[in-house]
Amino acid sequence: MRDLARTFVARLLDIAGGGNAAVALHEPEFSGAEWELVKDCLDSGWVSSVGKYVDRFESEIAQRCGARHGIAVVNGTAALHVALIVSGVRPGDEVIVPALTFVATANAAVHAGAVPHFADSAADTLGLDPAALRDYLTKIADRRCGSCINAETGRRIAAIVPMHAFGHPVDMDGLLALGADFDLPVIEDAAESLGSLYKGGPCGALGRIGALSFNGNKIITTGGGGAIVTNDPDLARQVKHLTTTAKTPHRWAFNHDQVGYNYRLPNINAALGCAQLARLEDLVARKRRLAERYFVGFADCEGLAVFREPAFATSNYWLNAVMLDEDRVSERDTLLAAANDAGLMCRPAWTLLHRLPMYRSCPRAALPVAEAIEARLINIPSSAKLAS
Ligand SMILES: *Cc1c(COP(=O)(O)O)cnc(C)c1O
Repeated sequence: MRDLARTFVARLLDIAGGGNAAVALHEPEFSGAEWELVKDCLDSGWVSSVGKYVDRFESEIAQRCGARHGIAVVNGTAALHVALIVSGVRPGDEVIVPALTFVATANAAVHAGAVPHFADSAADTLGLDPAALRDYLTKIADRRCGSCINAETGRRIAAIVPMHAFGHPVDMDGLLALGADFDLPVIEDAAESLGSLYKGGPCGALGRIGALSFNGNKIITTGGGGAIVTNDPDLARQVKHLTTTAKTPHRWAFNHDQVGYNYRLPNINAALGCAQLARLEDLVARKRRLAERYFVGFADCEGLAVFREPAFATSNYWLNAVMLDEDRVSERDTLLAAANDAGLMCRPAWTLLHRLPMYRSCPRAALPVAEAIEARLINIPSSAKLAS
């Protein structure tokens, strides 16, 4: 039993090696124009809610996601919240989210007044399984006048929010087809997948609208920040309006035509983002190199395997993960303890959301695959600098 833990730690030290210093799960890196662009904000006084870096960051993020429009906001949760609202999610609706995701995916649905409805993952992507979800919706959903009603709760199901877990793209074609068949908009939670490709195209704007995060632990960071990307000019206009206090343009008057949000990304954060974005290719290339080292390093390790991107994807490998063999799941916490004791920051998967106290009574599908992933998965140190 201790053998696997010992091998796990030895190989991690070999590949991610800390010397005496602790090795983080994911560290940001500021080795480009970050200092210069942030200083420009301080020198010019343009640090707050508008400025040239906000405009530049919005257009560069859109371009990176293959989208026509990008709107920068304060964080990824706010981005999801607004994406849900403009996609038509209303109080009392249900929103399909994976049980295996960061809590913000479900929180955003609640912020929009909706109830998260948890669905299962596919083993090869870790994200929503379109086939399982189709079977499930076929069983529980009533179709009435273009709406999809949960026959068990009587509430309208208003959207599907797939999440590209740890940077690995989900089966978007399957989910988009499902969305079309059930009249459900598909809103991408692309918080972890900037720079990942699905069938050669960037994640984020594969559906009608998507949300990104630039929190400190993501592949690029603006300190805190997020963005909404879309190809739909009307959605883009609504998002920009709603996230900037719904102010109607005027030379001096303060007129607002909706209860808007102050979700604007400050210029100083956008400046950081512009500098970070310029290095995205390099970051992705090094993270993919690190993943390759893990594949080689753990290739003959009995009892676990390093997770590989789905066949149709080129992942940013935001966080690498090992999957324990099914007969080894009882050793997960021993491995976690051994690695963390050795200064190697390793973490289990998120606690499945339906187990959290505020989400315990939410509707859900059977979740056998998400439960198996939760039991088997350990995230391992994944900073780009580990492959420099
Ligand atoms: C980070 C993250 C978010 C939220 O982003 P914040 O910027 O932290 O609000 C949402 N969903 C997923 C999957 C994330 O990883």
